[in-house]
Amino acid sequence: VNILAIETSCDESSVAVIQDGRVIRSNIISSQIEIHKKYGGVVPEIASRKHLEALPFVVQEALSEAEADFKDIDGIGVAYGPGLVGALLVGLSYAKAAAYAIEKPLIGVHHLEGHIHAGFLEYPDLAFPLVALVVSGGHTSLVYLPKRGAYELLGQTRDDAAGEAFDKVARHLGLGYPGGPQIQQAALQGNREKLVFPRAWLEKDSLDFSFSGLKSSVLNYLNQCKMKDEAYDIPDIAAGLQEAIGDVLATKAVVAAKKKKVPTILLAGGVAANLRLREMLQEKAGQENINVLWPSPVLCTDNAAMIGCAAYYKYLRGEFSDLTLNAVPNLSLFTS
Ligand code: ATP
Ligand code: MG
Ligand code: FE
Repeated sequence: VNILAIETSCDESSVAVIQDGRVIRSNIISSQIEIHKKYGGVVPEIASRKHLEALPFVVQEALSEAEADFKDIDGIGVAYGPGLVGALLVGLSYAKAAAYAIEKPLIGVHHLEGHIHAGFLEYPDLAFPLVALVVSGGHTSLVYLPKRGAYELLGQTRDDAAGEAFDKVARHLGLGYPGGPQIQQAALQGNREKLVFPRAWLEKDSLDFSFSGLKSSVLNYLNQCKMKDEAYDIPDIAAGLQEAIGDVLATKAVVAAKKKKVPTILLAGGVAANLRLREMLQEKAGQENINVLWPSPVLCTDNAAMIGCAAYYKYLRGEFSDLTLNAVPNLSLFTS
């Protein structure tokens, strides 16, 4: 079974051809980062327009790299939410037209279901149940997967997402966009014990997160230094921030895995590329004999391969969408 998958929820125009949910025949990612960089973040209207320009070419490239033709395609997978509505609509409209033209099923995929499936691309035989820590630019959630296709929310951020905290602090430090990779890079030269920023543990037993207090605390420190004309060390700030975020994420992920008695934690989303987070999670989970898995960096951030993998399993279950499918900017993954 070959799925052609499309992802345009934010600032990556991506198209992939995925065979049987596990072979990446192609995964073309056309990033708009260079365009949005000068604004310090994604400008929605520009994102839509750039998707419109790029998508037909990205589709051709994905097919040609896969050495495939539309006649080899059994279904069209597409992210239809959450994300920027205009950006989503470009990919969705293309997907609908393609599905109609080739008379094959349209399969709408939740973007986070996609992020989680990056792990199933990397480890196709991964067993259930498991707990996924989904950490991205817009989401920070702990998700319980009792079986394939079932998602139960255990906890989520009450304010900023982890990636958002990285991005916002990086912007104030003048490190540019996106901030996560820059913070990670700067932190390599920093002392992670020098600046201890606050961790929001919230109520006892809560698996929710909060990162806006941490962000404010870092920015306050920065402003104080500037006001007093004191020198501040960007690598130390980056290392302290990364440590605080990683500590809370890793600790709560392990609590969630123990609560659900699962042997595996799966990392997903752009922030899953963070090396210090992986290290902290592996250390804390290891003490409890819990296994931690993560996708390779290119599958952590937005890409169509992960959408194609999720679409494949929906294809097997016969979960098709009809051509009235609309983009849903705040689409939820959870039924309850
Ligand atoms: P969402 O998936 O919630 O809709 P998104 O698609 O914009 O949001 P992703 O592409 O999954 O987010 O991830 C992008 C985020 O990951 C950005 O916030 C970026 O700073 C962060 N990120 C990427 N690499 C790293 C890294 N090495 N360390 C920390 N954060 C990182
Ligand atoms: Mg992006
Ligand atoms: Fe994403």
